[in-house]
Amino acid sequence: MTRFRWCATVAALALVTGCSGADDAAPPAPASGRFVATYEPATTDATRAEEKVLRDNRVLEDFAESMTEYVRIPRDVRVVAKECGEANAFYLPDEHAIHYCYELSAAERLLFAKDGTAGEALDGEVYNSAVGTLYHEAGHVLIGELDLKITGREEDVADQLAAYVLTSADEFKDILLTVAKSYQLSAAEVTDLDELPFYDTHSLDPQRSVNFLCYLYGSDEKRFEQLVAEGSLPAERAESCGEEYTQLVGGWESLLAPHVK
Ligand SMILES: [Zn+2]
Repeated sequence: MTRFRWCATVAALALVTGCSGADDAAPPAPASGRFVATYEPATTDATRAEEKVLRDNRVLEDFAESMTEYVRIPRDVRVVAKECGEANAFYLPDEHAIHYCYELSAAERLLFAKDGTAGEALDGEVYNSAVGTLYHEAGHVLIGELDLKITGREEDVADQLAAYVLTSADEFKDILLTVAKSYQLSAAEVTDLDELPFYDTHSLDPQRSVNFLCYLYGSDEKRFEQLVAEGSLPAERAESCGEEYTQLVGGWESLLAPHVK
């Protein structure tokens, strides 16, 4: 079975190269829907800066191209970067669209800057975080557009799709490390346990963070043994990560088998 193949054409933050790229001849029209990237113009200094980073690094285009080449979907899904008035990202099933908010990039930038990351490294973290978010939304898209039958909480399953894709090659795994770090930083900002939204459809930020670390470790125990040594992935959890990861990969491979190209 084909596993995911990344179409990165990013220059400064290049991970790998592949797929058609911007300069190649247009591919023949596929017999199914496409992921279509669109940027709406931002209107503030902060959001314009994020629009530029996303555009310059072809974040939406690479995501859309990778997903289009990966799976057959019944209709086009628009991937729209825009101002939303909040730091968030959504899949809108009725509109067959993902909305990625410039404000989310700005919030992630602030989070990593407060942690001491600066310059190109900061752009790198914001880039990784946006890619991680898009693949989480891709999980919702696949569940919605392909009517996939799941029994776990959809938000957890969407996180697992992001983990499935972003552990499919060694060079993507740093992206997942950034995502885990982002949830860890965001969790550290909560000082009152009563503020934790335990009732939410999403798992709590520290749980999402440690889940991603667990999947990374499960995908390559040798490369990520430091996570256990430093304690960010508790040894008690680490014991089951190999099995959890195998289950995750098997689950998504089985769900997507009828739909991969
Ligand atoms: Zn979600």
